[in-house]
Amino acid sequence: MAGRPNARVPKAAIDRRRAVITAAITALGPPLPGSLVERRTTCGNQCCRCHADPPQLHGPYLTWTRKVDNKTVTRTLDTAQADAIRPLLDNARRLRELTSELETLTLQQLRDDPAQPDP
Ligand SMILES: [Zn+2]
Repeated sequence: MAGRPNARVPKAAIDRRRAVITAAITALGPPLPGSLVERRTTCGNQCCRCHADPPQLHGPYLTWTRKVDNKTVTRTLDTAQADAIRPLLDNARRLRELTSELETLTLQQLRDDPAQPDP
C-alpha cells in the first residue's frame, strides 16, 4: 500500500524498545547543550603572521558554542574546562538520539494503527 511501505512492527516489540530507551534516558548523566569546536583565528594586526601568505593562524583554541535566544554564543575554554564538559555534551547528543528514536517508534505505531491518519 502506498505510504505504508514498511512491514508492521508488533506492538510488544515497540513497547519493549520504548522501555529500553526510557531506561537509558533515566541512566544518562546531565546533558549540556552545544558543541566543542577547535578554532584557528586571525587577529587585527595586519603585520602579524596570521595575515601572511600563506597565513599562520593563531590557536587552535577550544571553544564551546551553543545557541542562546537564537543567537550563537561562544566561550573559549582551557583544556581542563573542555575535558570537564565533554562528557556532558556527549550526554546531550545521546539524549537527542534517544528522543529521536522514541519519536520514530511512535510514528511506527501510528503508521500501523488503521484508526490513525498515515503520518
Ligand atoms: Zn595575528
